Amino acid sequence: MSISSAQASQNRPAVLDFKPVLDAVDAVLGVAQRPVELHEPRFGQRERELVLDCIDTNWVSSAGKYVTRFEEMVAAATGSRHAVAIVNGTAALHAALVLEGVEANDEVLLPSITFVATANAVRHAGAVPHFVDSTWDTLGLDPRALEAHLDEVAVRQNGAWVNKHTGRRLRAVVPVHIFGHPVDMAALGAVAARYDLVIVEDATESLGSTLNGKGCGTFGHSAVLSFNGNKIITTGGGGMIVTDDEAHARHARHFTSTAKKAHAWAFEHDEVAYNYRLPNINAALGCAQMERLAGMVEAKRVLAKRYLDAFSDFPWARIYREPKGSESNYWLNTLVLDREYASERDRLLEALHGHGIRARPLWTPMHLLPMYRDCPRAALPVAEDMNTRCINLPSSPFLAGAAPEGANQS
Ligand SMILES: *Cc1c(COP(=O)(O)O)cnc(C)c1O
Repeated sequence: MSISSAQASQNRPAVLDFKPVLDAVDAVLGVAQRPVELHEPRFGQRERELVLDCIDTNWVSSAGKYVTRFEEMVAAATGSRHAVAIVNGTAALHAALVLEGVEANDEVLLPSITFVATANAVRHAGAVPHFVDSTWDTLGLDPRALEAHLDEVAVRQNGAWVNKHTGRRLRAVVPVHIFGHPVDMAALGAVAARYDLVIVEDATESLGSTLNGKGCGTFGHSAVLSFNGNKIITTGGGGMIVTDDEAHARHARHFTSTAKKAHAWAFEHDEVAYNYRLPNINAALGCAQMERLAGMVEAKRVLAKRYLDAFSDFPWARIYREPKGSESNYWLNTLVLDREYASERDRLLEALHGHGIRARPLWTPMHLLPMYRDCPRAALPVAEDMNTRCINLPSSPFLAGAAPEGANQS
């Protein structure tokens, strides 16, 4: 029976009992449905109707009324003037970076804590990811840490900011609104302006989130959304570039649809471009899903509130709460273990999986992946800390409809 005096004085157990976690999760989700996936879509009669309309009318591919309608619905939901539908979020990020002027051998700053697609898109553009730290305030990129890092490594050369260690131009910064929680965009905007960095928001997880009443995706010159199967709404696979800049949107549409000049029969193209357009059949699914976006965000916020309540007095872990001034869509709810229990994370994940709860840890930070290990980076103490003790819990919007007792529900 040897527990350290520090632990004894804080009245903390040396070995954790996971039952209270399982009980708290059961209290939120009910016990009727097992397993509970991390995030699942749901479709109804409206989805069936619009997809069937594509099949019945033969409009299934890269032209058709649903693509335009879907773009208009997403633009309205984010508060952007223009939206360009893309085949998936990764392709949208790639195209957005190129369209913002990112060139081969530039460096693009991004958080190490993100889904791998953010870093991959930078590489697809021929540029080099440059990883910066995150903050517990938002779970996203830390503007203050970014500024301190740039003060150290950025030097002015021939009218551009370059990394003094690599000689490469610092071109853009990609904030990611992790799990729907908005990055502090005012602070980031100031740093980006100081260092002439273009901001491309990775808003793939934050459709429907707002910061001081303004939609995620409207803070940078352009932003990217995703409609993958596990996102807030889905088109099967899909993505979007949003921007207020009409000329930029027009070019984005051209560049992602083979740069074909409009003509009744001639095939003429005026730049090397991509076939990244979202098919009409996917957009039809998206239109039906968008009709339910507000309800889904509301349901996700109800679910988050339930998790927050269930863990409010918990002795060694807490549910992550949306940043000040924001209304998060709570894409994924996050359980954060106290630092001294970080080593228990994997055992807790095993206990949750054994209980039919498909929880998961954070993505492995980018700077620890083999293909990005040698990329430039800032000190990453918060990213490494975060990585050891965050667990995502099931967050599908329909789970908010589960009865707290759940036993007699199906
Ligand atoms: C989902 C996601 C993407 C990419 O989306 P896909 O549509 O799956 O290509 C990019 N960045 C982040 C942070 C994401 O979560």
